Amino acid sequence: MSQALNDAVHWADLTADRLIRAEDKDTYTLASGITPSGVVHFGNFREVMTTELVARGLKKRGKNVRFIFSWDNYDTFRKVPVNLPNQDMLAKYLFQPIVDTPDPYGKHESYAAAHIASFEDQLKKMGIELSPIYQATKYRNGDYNEQIKLTLRKKDVVADILNKWRSAPLPEDWFPVSVYCEKCNTDKTTVTAYDGDNKLSYKCDNEGCGNVSALDLSKTGRAKLPWRMDWPMRWAYEKVDFEPGGKDHSSQGGSFTTAKDIVKDVYDWKAPMYLQYDFVSIKGMGGKMSSSKGNLVTVNDVLDVYEPEMVRWIFASYKTNVDFGLSFDLDVIKNYEDFDRLERMAYGLEAGNEKKIAMAKRVYELSQIREIPNEMPFQPGFRHLCNVLQINDLDVTRARKFYDADIKNDRDERRFQERAQRAAFWIENHAPEEFKFALNKEAKNIEANAAQKAFINDLNAFLKANWNNINDDKELHEKMYEMIHTHELEPMPTFTFLYQKLIGLDKGPKLAGFIRTIGLERVSKLLV
Ligand SMILES: [Zn+2]
Repeated sequence: MSQALNDAVHWADLTADRLIRAEDKDTYTLASGITPSGVVHFGNFREVMTTELVARGLKKRGKNVRFIFSWDNYDTFRKVPVNLPNQDMLAKYLFQPIVDTPDPYGKHESYAAAHIASFEDQLKKMGIELSPIYQATKYRNGDYNEQIKLTLRKKDVVADILNKWRSAPLPEDWFPVSVYCEKCNTDKTTVTAYDGDNKLSYKCDNEGCGNVSALDLSKTGRAKLPWRMDWPMRWAYEKVDFEPGGKDHSSQGGSFTTAKDIVKDVYDWKAPMYLQYDFVSIKGMGGKMSSSKGNLVTVNDVLDVYEPEMVRWIFASYKTNVDFGLSFDLDVIKNYEDFDRLERMAYGLEAGNEKKIAMAKRVYELSQIREIPNEMPFQPGFRHLCNVLQINDLDVTRARKFYDADIKNDRDERRFQERAQRAAFWIENHAPEEFKFALNKEAKNIEANAAQKAFINDLNAFLKANWNNINDDKELHEKMYEMIHTHELEPMPTFTFLYQKLIGLDKGPKLAGFIRTIGLERVSKLLV
């Protein structure tokens, strides 16, 4: 197989190869990070997935990966999000570290901890294993104090780098550090002097505080490097080989540009290999979510509709510098169909040119959370599954009976359960109205002419007599047309008549397949 050659075209593998070419070693440190200052949403997830896929690329080359993830929970709580309860309580913690801001729902240790716990749980569901680093813990332990002192000593070097991109230069008395006041815990402080060793003097400008004091940099955990210095410091501290960054950090003169110089001139280290990633948008969410969650879609929201493997597949299918929209509307059906096609291609069950198949295989591998099964998992078509579920009042257990013969092993079972639950959720929460239906509970009396009455009697009799001999949807479809013709009826109003009899609507799923899916017992009860 030429897979080893071809799979290098995936960007995750290309990046892995570039890393190995730059320096061939056993273990690579891959980093990413997020500030848990609000709900960690699906857009943030690209930060993690980009790193995760590069990690997979390296592992495929037999390398070890140390995947570190920085939770920037020592960042400052700068704004109370409008959609949270206990606004007044939260407002009291403005300008304090988010690690000290209480969880407004009262469930977690802090505001930051709530977001962290929720996101870490979502990462597990996506099969992502990483080592979290809690920056508040690092800073408060004093782990970075030597780096802080070094930054302060080299403040002119830092200022020169930053000034290259500033319209007005930093003032002479600027210091590359912020301080959380020992009295009021806010960062509304000004550093006034540094003695070149351990003494950092500051005054607090917070209204009603006015604390004037000095920190001992051999002990304190109250000094913190601002983002533009914090980022390169951590590259050097953790010896990071690779880290992705969003568009907001990647512009000319943005934090990556300055960090690249700072890491070299201040910390005597080099910038990691960097990959810029683009935005992810959400399509077809409707008004429902936006009202309750401030328009933020989380990984959990996405997992309500898509299987975890599919979410990974979507990220693996796009180059990092391409933005894409994830759909919650009718495109969900198409996405399921596309994923199923990729899966069949990966198992050699669908035609395609060699290059396309090799790529499909690699993308499929990258999408997997567990070992790839030897046999392709059962694929209940999403659209069909939606019909079966709606015929069965969205009851997954009853719907499963329809697929009994297809579910042969644990993986098939997991596929069915995961997909059926998602299909039911999607129908209830996101599917357009015209997609929804419920099977009539009993025969419905609809005004009909003699020809229509005769037709429906004939159709019912035919179904009863031939049910087990109907080979496929096409055969039934043709038979129905033949009968419509015999009774000199028009097809369109006749179909409407049948839909009314079955689901009380003028339209519905393709009739022949629909009738076969409903099953003889219920169909023959309704078509009278
Ligand atoms: Zn203060």
